Amino acid sequence: MKLAQRMERLGTETAFAVSAEAAGHAARGNKVYPFHLGDMNIRTPDNVIAAAKSAIDMGKTGYCPNYGIPELRKALAEDINKSRGTDFTMENVAIQPGGKPVISKFILALMNQGDEVLYPSPGYPIYESQIEFHGGVAVPYTFTEGKEGFNLDMEAIEELISAKTRILILNNLQNPTGAESSHEELEALASIVRKHDLQVLCDEAYFDIRYEGESESLVSFPGMKERCVLLYTFSKRFAMTGWRLGAAIGPRDLIDAMAELSVNDESCSNHFIQYGALEGLKGDQEGPREILRILKERRDVAVEILNRIEGIRCYKPQATFYLFPNVTDVMEALDYGDYTAFRTDILHRTGVSFCTRFHFGRALHGEEQKYIRLAYSGIGVGEITEGLTKLKDCIEGRLHPDR
Ligand code: PMP
Repeated sequence: MKLAQRMERLGTETAFAVSAEAAGHAARGNKVYPFHLGDMNIRTPDNVIAAAKSAIDMGKTGYCPNYGIPELRKALAEDINKSRGTDFTMENVAIQPGGKPVISKFILALMNQGDEVLYPSPGYPIYESQIEFHGGVAVPYTFTEGKEGFNLDMEAIEELISAKTRILILNNLQNPTGAESSHEELEALASIVRKHDLQVLCDEAYFDIRYEGESESLVSFPGMKERCVLLYTFSKRFAMTGWRLGAAIGPRDLIDAMAELSVNDESCSNHFIQYGALEGLKGDQEGPREILRILKERRDVAVEILNRIEGIRCYKPQATFYLFPNVTDVMEALDYGDYTAFRTDILHRTGVSFCTRFHFGRALHGEEQKYIRLAYSGIGVGEITEGLTKLKDCIEGRLHPDR
């Protein structure tokens, strides 16, 4: 079979290979601690499930408008306005089968062949894949590690902008680092966006997965509403990853273009699930509160143990369900040549399975620090404690064999 040439430019989520290796390790009778999963082992709130079930019973099983049901678009616009201080209406909202499809539709609707697109690396690998698949030039920007977390280097970002740069992808509250931009950082970014006349995809998949403080969006800054499309998803906030429901929210002409792409691709998003999502937004909020309570406890336990491991340092993100510890010292001290050697050896010795920086976009020139990503969305507190204690004993036992 000779596939189309463009398929050579399509990337993937290489983290799926980590899942396959972890599954293989488990199949050989070993205990696996699944920190590699970006999925959630938390139940969707009961009121959401009940509303979706009753929508099936009420016959909401045919096609629906391709933009989504009006009630949900309206509720989502109100929800976004409340948290972002915007004045969107339902005309600014196109419901999508997940947050992920917003990435390709945004790129397809805006990017011409040869346009340069700035995107984060480390970052969600689908950005790089979709930019290159559709004939754009992927231009990565990175983060620097500060005392309190990861920061964007505004000067470096501005230096990357050329006459061909039209699009910036921003994943504030970030996968894989857990990083978030300060108010000042967003302000500086907004001014770069205005100055260079950029359009922005604001991937806010983790906006509501927050344990302290309040999330802030680039769209709330002056002049940004006309330039930003928000990627919204029900996946994390309501533990609905497998339901596949999200939305694009932004300027009406761009949203219309993206909805046109939906007509071509999937006609509409799943009809009855939208009633579940509507209940999620408008109904009792105990479910999302419980999700955050569970995740926060996991975060606290994981960060505490990680920071007690010699050669590892891990800052405590206030949002997302990822940790991005720096493992440079431990990899050096134990003479691991590369990420794969480190990851697979630790898996075999301890059962602790994680992704590395390698799974989140191409490394930048001169990148020296080494990081791994631990997701705590799919593993309970007991297993977090057991697994990370094994990791600690393994690493420290090898650093000090005579102790
Ligand atoms: N953006 C980011 C940064 C993500 O991590 C994910 C999922 N892991 C998505 C978008 C897409 O999520 P979904 O399609 O489930 O909404």
